[in-house]
Amino acid sequence: MAASTDSVAELLRAQGLRMTPQRLAIMGELMNADDAMVASALAARVRDKLPGVTVATVYRTLDHLERLGMLVHVHLASGLAYRRVALPQHAYLTCGSCGSELAVAQGTLRPLEELIRRENGFRADFTHHTSAGVCATCADARTAGGAARLPRP
Ligand SMILES: [Zn+2]
Ligand SMILES: [Zn+2]
Repeated sequence: MAASTDSVAELLRAQGLRMTPQRLAIMGELMNADDAMVASALAARVRDKLPGVTVATVYRTLDHLERLGMLVHVHLASGLAYRRVALPQHAYLTCGSCGSELAVAQGTLRPLEELIRRENGFRADFTHHTSAGVCATCADARTAGGAARLPRP
């Protein structure tokens, strides 16, 4: 509850947006978050503050705030999530074995984005969906277990 309602209201007003209790509650939650928040968790927190608001209304408001340029959505392994536009973008990696999530700075992916753009003319956005793979810990465990079980070719 650090971000004051005033600063959220100012932000909305600066964008020329109408203030509604839902918008204030959603933006209030996201102002305090330093990364994307899963929409279902966000909806639960907003409904704690505004018991009369339905989950559908929270989702509709999130969608609206995104179209107004305040928020952006990402697809995490844990579900649809939203973050403030002002936050730095990340690429997310999710381990298929243990489910751990790793955020990678967008800059790390720049060389790959550049390569794809040069060779295919395509502007890839690796920050929109989580990438599946295997984390270092699980990969190590797999290699150790695999070496013991599999005969060498
Ligand atoms: Zn999407
Ligand atoms: Zn793992």
